[in-house]
Amino acid sequence: MTVYLVGAGPGDPGLITVRGAELLGRADVVVYDRLVARSLLDLAPPTAERISVGKAPGRVEMEQRDINDLLVERGRAHDSTVVRLKGGDPFVFGRGGEEAEALAAAGVAFEVVPGITSAIAAPAYAGVPVTHRGASTHFTVVTGHEDPAKGAADVDWASLARAGGTLVILMGAGRISEIADRLVAGGLAPDTPTTAVRHGTRPDQRTVRATLATIATAGEVEAPAAIVVGAVAALELTWFESRPLFGKQVVVTRAREQASALRARLELLGAAVLEVPAIAIEPIDVTVPDLGAYSWLVLTSANGVAALFDRGLGTSRRDARALAGVRVAAIGPGTAAALADRGIRADLVPERFVAEALLDAFPSPSAAGARVLLARAEQARDVLPEGLEEKGYAVDVLGAYRTVPATPDADLVERVRNGDVDAVTFTSSSTVTNFCDLLGAVPDPQPLVVSIGPVTSKTAFERGLRVDVEAEEHTIDGLVDALTGALTR
Ligand code: SAH
Repeated sequence: MTVYLVGAGPGDPGLITVRGAELLGRADVVVYDRLVARSLLDLAPPTAERISVGKAPGRVEMEQRDINDLLVERGRAHDSTVVRLKGGDPFVFGRGGEEAEALAAAGVAFEVVPGITSAIAAPAYAGVPVTHRGASTHFTVVTGHEDPAKGAADVDWASLARAGGTLVILMGAGRISEIADRLVAGGLAPDTPTTAVRHGTRPDQRTVRATLATIATAGEVEAPAAIVVGAVAALELTWFESRPLFGKQVVVTRAREQASALRARLELLGAAVLEVPAIAIEPIDVTVPDLGAYSWLVLTSANGVAALFDRGLGTSRRDARALAGVRVAAIGPGTAAALADRGIRADLVPERFVAEALLDAFPSPSAAGARVLLARAEQARDVLPEGLEEKGYAVDVLGAYRTVPATPDADLVERVRNGDVDAVTFTSSSTVTNFCDLLGAVPDPQPLVVSIGPVTSKTAFERGLRVDVEAEEHTIDGLVDALTGALTR
């Protein structure tokens, strides 16, 4: 029905617009370019058709005319939302104009959602403002690609050289030597600051600072790069590349369902996060017994909370009032937070977040025959039920979910196997076990291994892994702190 020409931004998935993300969330068809971030595609419903028209430099997978035809054809389908997701801004060297023309000519409705262009964002992430008081009053964005078929007429480099201000060259990495010569021939000083930003805003961003005279031989000026020429290019307001985990490849082995908090924390510190989930969470259809019969409800993970409250109580049409008079224990802050999300404040959270500490903190039964309901993974250690029974409680264990092996991306698994990452994080024994089963052998060379706590470390040790760091506080934050400490030492 409508085709949306949506700018995906320059690479960092957080730089898509709210409108773009909202449209992706209800897309029936997504037609995307090669450089578009995977996690943006994940915003589309699982059922959406995803069509790659990926354009790699020098390798056209689909002619522009075919892309136009595809958009017209899909756009004509009744009742469907088609998102044409394009790198940066759709109308900045994106050929979005041609796609809009084709849609208009065919009478297909379209809308444009502008995006953040790499011409501004890549320099910004390298600490270069395209205008700066006293240094540059204007900026010009120009293509360095002179193939007329790509829509680039002859660029008048001599007048650009005279125009002053900031020059931002896109698609120019392959011809930078010739472009620099022409700018110098046009009158720009050979020592004019020139900064090339490759893979701007991405975890693998590379910034090369040089001058017009030296940029061609500075090395590593490769596509895709935004090249900034002018006084501002000498500024080094570096922030992105100086974050503590910038450039580090960190593997997260948690189940996809649980990975987001850890991923977000790591990405804030600049890490490139590789999700290699070793386990998946499989809910069990639990029948929740009458909670009024228990003096305590004990939860050992956020998964257990979700299973009990969202699926269990939810499906039995009971609600939180079923907990009236029942005290609630959580093994750690993650579990307590999951309870708090559902309006329940935990009565007991131990100081250290392991089963043994929970047992130590647990009061003795106030009356004979006091009962505890323990909701947790189907397969788990017996420490808690046995310890609680020793204290004099009658314990019922409710297997609320199970962890099953996951099947992560095979290429990623291969990379980890070859030790081609900086660190691997483990948040539970079951992630260790399934991860080792998945790999078949200890990665060689072994990357830094970071464990959330002693139980996880012990399992890792038993599987032949060297545990380099263990979190002092057995939480996601503690794990991230330990990892950051180890990688930045
Ligand atoms: N519409 C896009 C530009 C498409 S042309 C935009 O607005 O950003 C492709 C060129 O954009 C590349 O050759 C490169 O010069 C530039 N480019 C795209 N992504 C980039 C990135 N992450 N870092 C630096 N340059 C990038």
